[in-house]
Amino acid sequence: MFIALIIPTLSGIFATSLFLLARYQEDRVVERAAWSYAGFAVGMSLQYFEPFGFEASRFLSNAIFLASMVLLSSALMARHGRRAPLGAMSAITVISLTVLAAGLVGEPNLALRVAAASLGFAAVSALLAYKLWRIGAHTLVDRLLLGSVAFIAAGSVIRPAVIYLLQGGLGTEQLFFQSLYWLSLVLSAVFFLSVIALTLISSASLDTIETLRTEAGTDMLSGVFNRRGFEQGAVRLIRKAERQGQPVSLVLADLDHFKQVNDHFGHACGDAAIRQFAGCLTARAGTDAVVGRLGGEEFAILASGTTAQAARLMAEGMRVGLSMCELDGMPAERRLTASFGVAQRVPSDTLASLIERADQALYAAKAAGRDRVRVSVEAGQQEAAPVRAAQRH
Ligand code: GH3
Ligand code: MG
Ligand code: MG
Repeated sequence: MFIALIIPTLSGIFATSLFLLARYQEDRVVERAAWSYAGFAVGMSLQYFEPFGFEASRFLSNAIFLASMVLLSSALMARHGRRAPLGAMSAITVISLTVLAAGLVGEPNLALRVAAASLGFAAVSALLAYKLWRIGAHTLVDRLLLGSVAFIAAGSVIRPAVIYLLQGGLGTEQLFFQSLYWLSLVLSAVFFLSVIALTLISSASLDTIETLRTEAGTDMLSGVFNRRGFEQGAVRLIRKAERQGQPVSLVLADLDHFKQVNDHFGHACGDAAIRQFAGCLTARAGTDAVVGRLGGEEFAILASGTTAQAARLMAEGMRVGLSMCELDGMPAERRLTASFGVAQRVPSDTLASLIERADQALYAAKAAGRDRVRVSVEAGQQEAAPVRAAQRH
């Protein structure tokens, strides 16, 4: 009885978890996998409890097993945005079930039924394994799933063959559920059903964690990092630059008289301006940089391989780029300007002290009349740029 209930119970538990996960994440892959596990649970229960009599229950049970395997194939292929070869799989299913039916009518033929069911199951699994192998198993999750499917395919052929050769048969019709064949099938099914379900559940959960982590570090209005994401990215960038002996510089950028934009053109227009400003900064930040919105209309760009001099030029490019930018929802002649503070990191700098010095430079740029770039020169640091850099007036 314990053996009888182990697969329906286990599959039922996995199906429930997968259904919950699918509903929570609106994930079609997980939902298909959930249906397939529900199928394994029902199929196995039919084997034992024979609610529709021996023949019909056996036939239905095997049909559900094969359909569940096809469904699982479609779920595992959908992970890669591909379709399972449903035509070939349906053909295998029909052939397998036809032979199986022949082993049920008249004098029941256990060996024929086992051959039909296991070869059908093996063929569907092997086809799936081949398709997954063609796609390429690049991640640990891919490899676990491909490995499990390949083992299921191989096991479905090898198990009955070996037991047939060892015992000269597969057991009797009456004592089938006590046979070595059935016991080994149940144990291997428990193992692979668990591996596949747990792999799917953990991979779907890890995807969610990854999405949440990205969202937690992203500013939804501008699409760049928020302060938290920026700080995490900045610490990584500084560590890497230190290892490589590269200079690092910070640019702080703040829109000028931004309150007026909100006051004159409305908050939605202000939002659009913030978004466009972020795009303008990102476009000129280079690839080895992190861009973040520190709050309101203030942004930070931390660039690796960049001296204060280079960062000043970058900020100049951003300043000029912004002045050429026509902003959504504002008259064409109304252009926004921004002020920039630049600081190059010295070895004693923490991120906070670097931001502090760039902020002082930004404050100096505002005080000097806005729409300009100012560079902070740290004592002991080589003068990288003239302090009156980039004055337009
Ligand atoms: P300046 O920097 O040149 O000294 O002047 P400012 O007008 O830009 O000054 P301040 O930094 O004090 O004002 C920033 C304004 O930005 C205040 C606030 O109404 C607006 N703001 C902050 N966050 C948002 C936002 O997410 N959307 C919009 N539309 N406005 C925002
Ligand atoms: Mg401002
Ligand atoms: Mg501000």
